[in-house]
Amino acid sequence: MKALTDFDIESLEAALARCGHKPAQAARILRAFYNGAGHVDLAGLRLGRTLLAWLRDNTLERRSRVVARSESADGTIKLLLGFERGGAVETVLMPTPFAERAAGCLSSQIGCAMGCTFCASTRRGLERNLEAGEIVDQYLHLREQAVASRRRVATVVFMGMGEPLLNLDNVIAAIKRIAGRGMGELGWRQVTVSTVGIVPGIMKLAEAGLNVNLALSLHAPDDETRSRLVPLNKRYGVRQQHRGELPAAAARAAVAVPRHSA
Ligand code: SF4
Repeated sequence: MKALTDFDIESLEAALARCGHKPAQAARILRAFYNGAGHVDLAGLRLGRTLLAWLRDNTLERRSRVVARSESADGTIKLLLGFERGGAVETVLMPTPFAERAAGCLSSQIGCAMGCTFCASTRRGLERNLEAGEIVDQYLHLREQAVASRRRVATVVFMGMGEPLLNLDNVIAAIKRIAGRGMGELGWRQVTVSTVGIVPGIMKLAEAGLNVNLALSLHAPDDETRSRLVPLNKRYGVRQQHRGELPAAAARAAVAVPRHSA
C-alpha cells in the first residue's frame, strides 16, 4: 500500500482520476496532510464517503516507524527509522543558535557505495536507494520531534547516510514535497544537498532549477590527501572542480563543509 508521502499533487490527482474521484481534491488532501505535519483528519475534510473510504483503503500516513530515539544534553535528537519496505536509517534534529529553530539532517540511501575511509555508512556498501516518500517520512518525523520540543524545522540538509546525487530523482521528488508551495513548511533556500562531488549529479541538480543550496564536502584541499579519504576524488578531483567544470549556478552555490555522517 502507498503512503500519502509517496504522492505529489499530480500523481495523487492521477490516482484519484483512475478510480473515478475528483482530481481537484488531491491538492486539498496533501496540503492538509503537510500542514498537519503528516497527520490529517480525513473526516474533517468533508471529502465524501466514497473518497474517504478509498483513501483509508489505499493510503497509509507513514511507511516508517521510530525504532530507537536518543537525545543529547544540547537538544540533538537522533532517530533510527525502520521502513516497511525493509532497512533502517538515522535521521537527526540538531539545535541552532536560535532556540526556536532546529536543523534536520536527512539520509538518502541505506548504506553507501562511496567508500570514504572515515565513514561508517559505507562499511557494508549500498543496500538500496530510499524512495522519495521514505525521505519525506524522515522530515515529517523530525517535524514531530521539533514540535514536541517547542521548535520548528527551519532547514534540512541531505548529509546523513548515502550520497544524495546518486539517488537524485528521488531526492528531487522529496525536496519538491518538503519545500513545494503549500506542502512542507520550508522554502527552496532552506534545503541543502551535500555531496562528495559527483560532477554529473551537480549539473543535473542545477538543471532541475530548484534553487536549493549545494554543499561540497572537500575534507582536504589537495588531490593527494583527498584521494586517500574520498576514493571518488580520483574521478572527480579538486582540480577538476576548480577548473570550472561545474555549471556556473552550481559553482556559485558550492561551499565546502565538513561532512556529517553515521
Ligand atoms: S561520507 Fe557520505 S559519500 Fe562518503 S561514504 Fe559516507 S555517506 Fe557515503
